[in-house]
Amino acid sequence: MFGHFPFFLYLCSPKSVYMCSLEQFKIDLKGLTEEVTALEWNLNKDFFDALDQTEVEGGALHVSLSIRKASGFFELQFHTVGTVDITCDRCLDLMEQPIETDNQLVVKLGTATPEDDDTVTVDENEGILDTSWFIYEFIALAIPIQHVHAPGKCNPAMTKALEELSADRSGDEESSQTVDPRWEKLKDLLPRPLS
Ligand SMILES: [Zn+2]
Repeated sequence: MFGHFPFFLYLCSPKSVYMCSLEQFKIDLKGLTEEVTALEWNLNKDFFDALDQTEVEGGALHVSLSIRKASGFFELQFHTVGTVDITCDRCLDLMEQPIETDNQLVVKLGTATPEDDDTVTVDENEGILDTSWFIYEFIALAIPIQHVHAPGKCNPAMTKALEELSADRSGDEESSQTVDPRWEKLKDLLPRPLS
């Protein structure tokens, strides 16, 4: 069914009558007729909702994929650019995180063996590669471990609450140190002042 492209633009748009179907990310490798096939997708919240994941709330990204047919394998080059909506580590409000990532997959038709680390093996009777989860993982891996709003852009109420909480915590630590029973015992070992 996918044999007729070299090029096609898919849309997952909120205006679309249909839900973003992950079907469009399934590629019939055996049906590819050209040596190089180019595919593109625009991703938005519907894509992330359709995947069973919780990290990314939404986004606006463009994915371009180039598939090169080689002898015995397929080389897939993904380029993904845009923004994802994720929760800020500091204030927990949603924030836009810019993402740009290039990723490569080598895909073979055959039977999967446990030693295959760098290559993806697709059942050669079916020949269908579902790229949706790969695209999601490329995006998820491109998200920095620490992601916070730009200075001053965090939720003001949450920022105030966090400042109060951290002030309370440091107060607790100071007072607990003075009553730590281990220190009290050590004091007994100290030489007593002569009276
Ligand atoms: Zn924030």
